[in-house]
Amino acid sequence: MNDLRELYQEVILDHGRRPRNFGPLPDATAHADGNNPLCGDRLTVHVKQDGETIERIGFEGAGCAICMASASIMTETLSGRTRQECDRKFEHFHSLVTGCADLAADDDDEKLQVFAGVSEYPMRVKCATLAWHTLRAALGSGEDEVSTE
Ligand code: ZN
Repeated sequence: MNDLRELYQEVILDHGRRPRNFGPLPDATAHADGNNPLCGDRLTVHVKQDGETIERIGFEGAGCAICMASASIMTETLSGRTRQECDRKFEHFHSLVTGCADLAADDDDEKLQVFAGVSEYPMRVKCATLAWHTLRAALGSGEDEVSTE
């Protein structure tokens, strides 16, 4: 179990240091800002949609390693998916970081599993979910700015 934890930590540090899809998305069709004042994480999420498909996701901002890694892995996991699939992943991810999910089966869930340890640190749950909430806002849940408070 310790090895696994170390591996997970490495993944988080790697994505935190070198976030994927970081930067503006020139042909984005939607944006939203997210703010987690408890930790000081601030993100802007950019989305390029084509109908029901989320073609690309990019993000900018600054935050702790967990926040940045979560945003980075989110962009990799959700790009190319439909909104419906994104909603499902969001729910899965949310239950994972709040400790309510069984470890699940498919491949990209494996990537998300690195955040399972976050459930032991309630303060960190908001860091891990900020990008996801912000993406949802960008996809049109009605809010332009998300705050975890
Ligand atoms: Zn944070």
